[in-house]
Amino acid sequence: MQTIVYYTTGILVLSVFIFIWLERKFPYTKGMPIFRDGFWVDLVWYTFIQSYFLKIFIFDYIIMPLDRTWHLSSLHMVTSWPVAVQVLFFLVVHDFYIYWFHRAQHHSKLLWRTHEAHHSNKEVDWLAGTRSHSLEFLINQTVEFAPIVLLGANPIVVPIKALLDAVWGMYIHSNIDVRSGKLQYFINGPEMHQWHHSNDRAVFYANYSTKFAIWDWLFGTAYLPGHRKPDEFGLPYDYPRDYFLQHFFAVKRVDEKRLAAKYPLFRAYHFSRQGITEWVKRRWRGTKSVVEN
Ligand SMILES: [Zn+2]
Ligand SMILES: [Zn+2]
Repeated sequence: MQTIVYYTTGILVLSVFIFIWLERKFPYTKGMPIFRDGFWVDLVWYTFIQSYFLKIFIFDYIIMPLDRTWHLSSLHMVTSWPVAVQVLFFLVVHDFYIYWFHRAQHHSKLLWRTHEAHHSNKEVDWLAGTRSHSLEFLINQTVEFAPIVLLGANPIVVPIKALLDAVWGMYIHSNIDVRSGKLQYFINGPEMHQWHHSNDRAVFYANYSTKFAIWDWLFGTAYLPGHRKPDEFGLPYDYPRDYFLQHFFAVKRVDEKRLAAKYPLFRAYHFSRQGITEWVKRRWRGTKSVVEN
């Protein structure tokens, strides 16, 4: 088990570098910097801190107690299946679920509050997909991993599935100009998912698929207008830049600038956070120009 975790982590890290390289080489939106707006919030808060703590919560405080109560895993419902079949089964079933849940999030005002964070980046790249409201993450990951454990799947299905999620997530959000032709009818990619993140009414109710684009084509929600690209990405309204405010915003609409003007403590936090980000950006630009010279 430990070995598979090492392997999957290695593949994940390698994939990050490959996607960054491909984004530089074949950009969908030209001129997007690596450290785009919101990069650090996505990396530090959403990718590392939020997912680390929520994974512990989901497995130790939801899935395991459920299994201790129901003893479902001891029935070994899928245990005898080959691992590849187990992975494929959970991949397709969960992807079908996520298509409908995602579609519901765009149609319900209440559920939209758990999804707007995901659409808030104005620049969409390999990392942008990690931005997911904690409640959305909690629901989707529980629905994804609880059946794997409760149906008695091989334990290595969990890290394999997590790796597939991460790499596929990076791929569909990546700023890479992919032209996959007929494959885009089956396998989802940036061609359709970059459109899903555009600030364009035409696609607010389209391109809900995550891994398999076939759901969008089957259920009439596919949008793929040839070689045309979106003019703008993100939300049509102002959205906070801070992780905690982004969560608060789902409950109560607040204006970050007005809060900073009103509360000195928040102002101090807000500007120190902004200062650190600007400092890192300046350092990065400095290092780059030294290398280029
Ligand atoms: Zn969406
Ligand atoms: Zn997305």
